[in-house]
Amino acid sequence: MGGTFNPIHYGHLVTAEAARDAFHLDRVIFIPSGHPPHKAEAGLASAEHRYLMTFLAIAPNVHFELSRVEIERQGPSYTSETLRLFYEQDDSVDWFFITGADAIFEIASWHYPENIFRYAELIAASRPGYSLSRLQALTEQLGDDRMRRIHQLEVPALAISSSLVRDRIQSGLSIKYLVPDAVEQYIAKNVLYQGGP
Ligand code: NAP
Repeated sequence: MGGTFNPIHYGHLVTAEAARDAFHLDRVIFIPSGHPPHKAEAGLASAEHRYLMTFLAIAPNVHFELSRVEIERQGPSYTSETLRLFYEQDDSVDWFFITGADAIFEIASWHYPENIFRYAELIAASRPGYSLSRLQALTEQLGDDRMRRIHQLEVPALAISSSLVRDRIQSGLSIKYLVPDAVEQYIAKNVLYQGGP
């Protein structure tokens, strides 16, 4: 389960659990991006803050784990490199990479997309109302074989987004019930996301 998790919220947690159910996954490993390759660092909480918030959020679920692999790796957090590491650790399991459908929509521009498809199948989590045809539009760039390795999962709880959470903090609004209590408290204690976009 890859993401910037800036911050992690209930939409991410529900997505992970829904993917675990739908695809019969033994466990879900959360991998916060260290240096997202496609993002300006402004407005981004530090990798360590995002890692710790993810730690607090997933702690109650015995099927959820957390990886520091992208936090500790120097340079951009390329998904192809991350998946290669997991695959090389154990190539006897079927690996799935879970993330947002909007992120996967850009996959053709990622670093070595062919390796991503080699090492894992993809689960594209979408908000309600996300058009299936949007992902289908990738067929021309990726071809049918790769498209068969992308699975769409609609997650109503993804009506929550990290940007919604950040906007509410900046506006002085409550984020209770959008993020786990421990994450809410961590954000308040460390005065995160209060200083503009
Ligand atoms: P993003 O572009 O910020 O997010 C796109 C959309 O997907 C947002 O609506 C986002 O919602 C949602 N989303 C992101 N992660 C999600 C998750 N785990 N579950 C459900 N929805 C999710 O995406 P990002 O978080 O920076 O990147 C997503 C993943 O793709 C990361 O693992 C990143 O490293 C990888 N990626 C790799 C490359 C590359 O290798 N070159 C390039 C781009 C992205 P929220 O804002 O609410 O999370």
